[in-house]
Amino acid sequence: MISRRNRNRAGQLTFHLITIFPEISASYWRYGVTGRAARRGLVQIKVHNLRDYSLDGKRNDDRPYGGGPGMVLRAKPIVRAVEKLKRQARGQKCKVIILSPAGKQFTNKEAARWAKHCDQLILVAGRYEGIDARVRRMIPGAEEVSIGPYVLSGGELPAMVIIDAVARRIPGVLGDEQSLEEKRSASHEVYTRPEIITHRGRRYRVPQVLLSGHQARINDWKLNQKSRKH
Ligand code: SAM
Repeated sequence: MISRRNRNRAGQLTFHLITIFPEISASYWRYGVTGRAARRGLVQIKVHNLRDYSLDGKRNDDRPYGGGPGMVLRAKPIVRAVEKLKRQARGQKCKVIILSPAGKQFTNKEAARWAKHCDQLILVAGRYEGIDARVRRMIPGAEEVSIGPYVLSGGELPAMVIIDAVARRIPGVLGDEQSLEEKRSASHEVYTRPEIITHRGRRYRVPQVLLSGHQARINDWKLNQKSRKH
């Protein structure tokens, strides 16, 4: 097993997604940057079916106390799944994230921090009316995280967003040059061929500076673009 110190060098991090719909994300992990990172052994993505952790044939969801529409995911199966994964991690650094629209806003800063300091990231996706609120208190260190100020139908998409963003920050996943580029200029405009596009009688050009071949000026332009947007 790779120790944390070595892990940072080798770049490996294991993501666990706990969900009642394990099929949802399956194809996503085969493509692009995360797919390549998984094939190269830099990340592992494991999806766990919450239904495997319900005891006595009990359902994973139940009606909310106090009334109201919809169902709530019960606490015990989730806690059981998380505790099993933590036990299996045998001393590696695990972070438990409960996806919730009311959680702390996820940013690139967290992505970088978790990529650097965690060996295993356990993400719990809610559904229906959400997750029994006691789960957060029953799992020491668990944090509620939101990907933005809107409500989605489930935590699978938010978990995929977080896994993608964190994976990109793991050394070796993008390659050093690209990661540096990403840090410097995450939000500058990008252009590709052709140099001029004619559309409905108008001509759309690539900014001259990008054609100049002058790398210092190009870097300045990218930085200016970024500061204009923030
Ligand atoms: N009223 C519920 C609440 O505030 O948790 C809404 C539950 S939502 C319909 C179902 C699940 O989707 C949540 O338990 C959560 O896991 C996930 N979810 C929805 N929007 C999210 C967001 N912006 N960020 C993270 N997770 C979200």
